[in-house]
Amino acid sequence: MQSKVWFAPVENHPSKEDVAQKTLALYRAANMTRIMEAGDLVAIKLHFGEKGNTGYIKPEYLHPLIKALKNDKVKPYLTDANTLYRGERSHSVDHLMQAYAHGFGPEAMGIPVIIADGIRSKNYSEVPIEGKHFDSVKIANDILDSDTLLVLSHPTGHGATGLGAAIKNLGMGSASRSGKQNQHSDVKPKVTKASCRACGICIRRCPVDAISWVDDKARIDQDVCYGCAECIAACRYGAIAVNWEGTSRALQEKMAEYAWGVVKDKTDKVACLSFLIHVTKDCDCVGRAQSSVIEDVGILASFDPVAIDQATVDLLSQAARRDFFLDLWPENNYNAQLSHAERMGMGNRQYELIEIGD
Ligand code: SF4
Ligand code: SF4
Repeated sequence: MQSKVWFAPVENHPSKEDVAQKTLALYRAANMTRIMEAGDLVAIKLHFGEKGNTGYIKPEYLHPLIKALKNDKVKPYLTDANTLYRGERSHSVDHLMQAYAHGFGPEAMGIPVIIADGIRSKNYSEVPIEGKHFDSVKIANDILDSDTLLVLSHPTGHGATGLGAAIKNLGMGSASRSGKQNQHSDVKPKVTKASCRACGICIRRCPVDAISWVDDKARIDQDVCYGCAECIAACRYGAIAVNWEGTSRALQEKMAEYAWGVVKDKTDKVACLSFLIHVTKDCDCVGRAQSSVIEDVGILASFDPVAIDQATVDLLSQAARRDFFLDLWPENNYNAQLSHAERMGMGNRQYELIEIGD
């Protein structure tokens, strides 16, 4: 049976007010209240945006939605888990301050921010699954312990997974630091010495200081590297490469298995909203402003994380008149995460698109 995906189109560069009203309209059109009961603790899982990033979901988009949730007598909180790499979100103290700096503070939003995996990412549980790569996954407790989960995603391209949207938000975004490490374990880029022009960009961009100079060329310490792929995107001379064959696929499949671990015990308690606005080549973990690579398309809502990601791919590809994410990252075929998530039983790539009016 097809899943339903609701769609509210937007003009290019919509106002925050327009996006906020359409987000609320989608919440109503999809009847998301049907998955909530009064008193439910509702985790709103999103990405607060790394320091310097500008693509993240804007807090103003969420004001009417949060008001509606409170009127519906549930108890929402904003949440994310800490990152693997060093940055402004690698432990809860910095992460909270970064969320506040981007406008997600309790005073502005009227609800708390809870970093779901604890100060140093020790607050997680091993969730048993029957996957191809894992038989258990490490998920942040304060996401697992929610009664209802709203997955708010900002789809982007991604240097290691091709596409970062709802499946990635769930799978990578809800994992403890150790779980994130488990997912990245296959990605180990190397510098081709002959192509390295010693510009140093990769050294400055590496979030964990895994790259240093050896004989005036960059070299990656494979024991420190955690496979974020930032250096691959950063090198203008094509000197850093990874054997992606099998690697991106494995990472995406692992991510899909983690996503399944988040939602598998939340039958009829998960809803997704995806903002196809300011879509960038790299994800919101990148600590700098990135230009959008396509005109804004709209907002999607669904109860199916697989269907909403498939609709994201289809609508952006339709707008771009090409396979949009494959064209952005041909070496990282995004289809791996969608097909594996579907195989795991998380959702359906077949969907019915329901466009809603103003
Ligand atoms: S970014 Fe590329 S060219 Fe520059 S130092 Fe790193 S590997 Fe060498
Ligand atoms: S993939 Fe590159 S940027 Fe990322 S941790 Fe490894 S060396 Fe650093």
